[in-house]
Amino acid sequence: LRSIYTKEADLSATTPDGFEVRIHLNAGLSADTDIGHSSGADGVGLYRTEIPFMMEDRFPSEETQYHIYRKVLESYCGRPVTMRTLDVGGDKSLPYFPINEDNPFLGWRGIRMTLDHPEIFLVQVRAMLRANLGMESLNIMFPMITSINEVDEALRLTRQAYREVSEEIAAQGSKAHLARPRVGVMIEVPGIIYQLPALASRIDFISVGSNDLTQYLLAVDRNNSRVAELYDSYHPAVLQALRHIFDQAHQCGIPVSVCGELAGEPAGALLLMAMGYRQLSMNIHNIPKIKWVIRKCRLDEATSILNEVMALECPTDVRRVMAQHLDRLG
Ligand code: PEP
Ligand code: MG
Repeated sequence: LRSIYTKEADLSATTPDGFEVRIHLNAGLSADTDIGHSSGADGVGLYRTEIPFMMEDRFPSEETQYHIYRKVLESYCGRPVTMRTLDVGGDKSLPYFPINEDNPFLGWRGIRMTLDHPEIFLVQVRAMLRANLGMESLNIMFPMITSINEVDEALRLTRQAYREVSEEIAAQGSKAHLARPRVGVMIEVPGIIYQLPALASRIDFISVGSNDLTQYLLAVDRNNSRVAELYDSYHPAVLQALRHIFDQAHQCGIPVSVCGELAGEPAGALLLMAMGYRQLSMNIHNIPKIKWVIRKCRLDEATSILNEVMALECPTDVRRVMAQHLDRLG
């Protein structure tokens, strides 16, 4: 079985009628990047920088971060790597930076924290930019964006970091070209879905974090077992939102991908592909099965499955219908 899977991972995710979906990797552990080149991924769609931060016992210095990021970019030699700025708060805490709040998922999370600590943000972005010197494969992505002001402030700091690093390189007499990174935003707070045109005029891409988007759309804690049955990315409201995001992004001409867990589930991947998404990012062990199911299902077939599913009213019905279709596909 393992060898069938490994073989599958080398093939492209192209439907029998010739539509290709780019498959990217969600990474963060060094093991992910050590085997990254053989994962079958076309790049890294989400590098969770908080994971290496969690391995340290204090905020990693710019130099430490530089080495970590350089290794990641090198192991993908030229393929795009999307690094997300620090996303702590909520359920993710750093032992050396405790955040105590009554409502952590609605609190000081992700970009909210780093914009309040521009020194943390600047050091991180400087380290990313330096790691990208001579590589040109870096994308930078901001988590938990709620409003356009946050985007403008994060972009301002990113430009500042770029200016600083390029001046330092020039002062060292180096002719090396410092590439400008592509910059994007995660779509995980429902409110920002209604501001995609304003986002599109500022940034280069968006990526849907379906894990948090599900949590916030349905007001269900993604980690609370008592309400686990209510947390469901196949809820018709979540599917409507995902379709709306794709349609809006397409209209605004901004590239869009999905990097939440839904993209790594066969049923989710087929529905997303039918909505129009052509880039999905997932954990390494989901890559072979997602490639397999995309290679099995024609786009027009996926579209008719989507149409059937969008008429359903309950998540359980969506799951049941999807299970029947997947059974039929083999
Ligand atoms: C998400 O919210 O879907 C996501 C990819 O980010 P994380 O799981 O790291 O919060
Ligand atoms: Mg998230």
